[in-house]
Amino acid sequence: MKNSQILVSEVFGPTIQGEGALAGRVTVFVRTGGCDFKCVWCDTPHAVLPCNKPTWTPQTPEDIFNRVYELTCGTPCLVTLSGGNPALQPLEPLLDWLHRNNYTSAMETQGTVARDWFVKLDHLILSPKPPSSRMRFNPAQLTRCIDAAQGAYPQPKLSLKVVVMDEGDYQFARYVHRAFASPLLIPFYLTPGNHTPPPPDGSDAVFDREGVLERTRWLVARAAEDRWHSVSIIPQLHTLLWANQQGV
Ligand code: SF4
Repeated sequence: MKNSQILVSEVFGPTIQGEGALAGRVTVFVRTGGCDFKCVWCDTPHAVLPCNKPTWTPQTPEDIFNRVYELTCGTPCLVTLSGGNPALQPLEPLLDWLHRNNYTSAMETQGTVARDWFVKLDHLILSPKPPSSRMRFNPAQLTRCIDAAQGAYPQPKLSLKVVVMDEGDYQFARYVHRAFASPLLIPFYLTPGNHTPPPPDGSDAVFDREGVLERTRWLVARAAEDRWHSVSIIPQLHTLLWANQQGV
């Protein structure tokens, strides 16, 4: 694999962005392969676990852009770079391809790896993982990612999003909001977690829709109890619509 190539798990769409600041926006997803985390409830094990590596393909930015162009019949739309952790890949040339052709870019990452090219994104969604993921949060890494998106003009629209499974995650989200979002007026989103994600072998899984809706109602009540009125709470639209199905 050459340095300029990007490891791709899947490219699909148009569909809708299911969560966060761009929920409901029509988008094509470019999902990269590989992640520096292994969250216990990861809902994209096909793009994370090493056993799935044979399904990831090294592609040039031009190859990826051509696929996006084909899927959208050449009509520009939002292109969401996700993973895995897309920040591990050399995405700057792909961003140039997209922008030269009037496509809008958004990237979602857990905020562990900062890149200079973050300033070229139209939207950057940082999603630090809460305690229930069993991953360790590193505040310095998140600060570096936020800093990497600052100072440019035009500046990428930055937002923070935290998945919440339980009270411990909710308290983590409160801390992240207080320490990182509030001082810079960064929009903040809570997503009730999918506690029945697809299994690692990629086979179909039962999806507990009512459980997710129940967690959403709890979260709305919890934020209201704390008078946390600046937050947005959105369940993952794609899971409500398509459960754990891949490629939508
Ligand atoms: S950071 Fe995201 S893609 Fe990586 S393991 Fe966690 S949930 Fe999965």
